[in-house]
Amino acid sequence: MEWETVIGLEIHAQLSTRSKIFSGASTAYGAEPNTQACAVDLGLPGVLPVLNEKAVAMAVKLGLAIDAEITPRSVFARKNYFYPDLPKGYQISQYELPVVGRGHLEIELEDGETKTIGVTRAHLEEDAGKSLHEDFHGMTGIDLNRAGTPLLEIVSEPDMRSPREAVAYMKKMHSLVRYLGICDGNMQEGSFRCDANVSVRRRGTEKFGTRTEIKNLNSFRFLEKAIEFEVERQIDVLEGGGAVVQETRLFDPDKGETRSMRSKEEANDYRYFPDPDLLPLDIDSTFIEQIRAELPELPDEKKNRFKTHYGLSAYDAATLTTSREMADYFEAVVEQADAGQAKMAANWVMGELSGALNREGREIGDSPVSAQALGGLLARIQDNTISGKIAKEVFEAMWAGEGDADTVIEAKGLKQITDTGAIEQVIDQVIADNPKQLEQYRSGKDKLFGFFVGQVMKQTGGKANPAQVNELLKKKL
Ligand code: ADP
Ligand code: MG
Repeated sequence: MEWETVIGLEIHAQLSTRSKIFSGASTAYGAEPNTQACAVDLGLPGVLPVLNEKAVAMAVKLGLAIDAEITPRSVFARKNYFYPDLPKGYQISQYELPVVGRGHLEIELEDGETKTIGVTRAHLEEDAGKSLHEDFHGMTGIDLNRAGTPLLEIVSEPDMRSPREAVAYMKKMHSLVRYLGICDGNMQEGSFRCDANVSVRRRGTEKFGTRTEIKNLNSFRFLEKAIEFEVERQIDVLEGGGAVVQETRLFDPDKGETRSMRSKEEANDYRYFPDPDLLPLDIDSTFIEQIRAELPELPDEKKNRFKTHYGLSAYDAATLTTSREMADYFEAVVEQADAGQAKMAANWVMGELSGALNREGREIGDSPVSAQALGGLLARIQDNTISGKIAKEVFEAMWAGEGDADTVIEAKGLKQITDTGAIEQVIDQVIADNPKQLEQYRSGKDKLFGFFVGQVMKQTGGKANPAQVNELLKKKL
């Protein structure tokens, strides 16, 4: 507890435009290497970049969603450096005047509290190509298809104080860009990744410690593990009397450790200067207002509405609104089932459904059980046709493609027994078969009540209405 962790993230979100940020080449993922980089993306002599208006609109969208200032006149700059997958010798980015200025994002912490994380800026830039090492022995492959793909780099303030907070922030930003439809959020394909800046300081000191930057983290788990390792490492260095070196590090997921990649260049090593081929980017209020009018309901607004309208807890509301798809699914279930059943619908979507989706690695969009079908199942619990327990069996059958709730209930004969006479008959039999337990129960061993309930449920194949069984048993015993 003597050390405090300080984290700031630089998130790169690939914008889902169809063409590149400065050329007409396609951005589609997965094409044959080097078939989608044109002369502009390669910076061949004599070409001129032309800014993609859609990319600007997407950046503004994010800016509005995080309540940030939109810079009326921003500037594209050349960031000069050599890298094999950057044949131009420079990357077009924004430096002193980014398109999106200061904003903020609220994150949910485990204890139900919220915390506001400052966003320093977000700027537009082009991605570089890819160096491929895996399939080449003693060589490196270069695929330039990604060169010129639009990126929005979102830089946070060093406001996070634990790996968990960093993960919560990255998750929230991930959810937001997907709500806005500006990034597909596919982390495996690298569409959404981050660099984590990490430092530690003794609690109570005001000055930040020296930071290291862990590059290219493309999963929430890696982000958490990388920071955890790095914090331990820095504390060991400092407690051993050493000093943390400002440098760039890489995370090795197999070993769970970070290692030095290169010492940190000074910013002015890049010799940034305004790109002479591109005009300053002027954004007027009409453009901004148009985009504001198109904003969808955002995660926080949706979360608050779920709390007030459906009476859900903060946790349920936050979980269900993580993605627009899940929120829409939930609302469709409620509509189908019964407006009064929001809590039950929430439990099913977060429980059985999410569990089944995770089990098979599926997205909610291709769930074999549609929202309407799940709503139909919940309606059968609600009208006492089946119990909640039997419903789980019905759900599994629906998942396996055996039809809707009514079809499965009918085919498997799962209808709940609500006929008092029938239940009483079973109870009488159970009591007659278990005289010893009956005696013990009557002499004060209350716990045996559960035994009798279990026996009745067993005899009825779980189909007896549980509330009725309880009531009738109490009377008979
Ligand atoms: P650079 O462009 O060299 O990466 P920036 O000043 O833009 O540097 O900072 C990058 C990130 O580092 C930001 O997210 C910022 O919040 C974070 N950061 C800055 N100082 C620290 C620190 N001492 N500890 C942790 N993070 C830091
Ligand atoms: Mg950086």
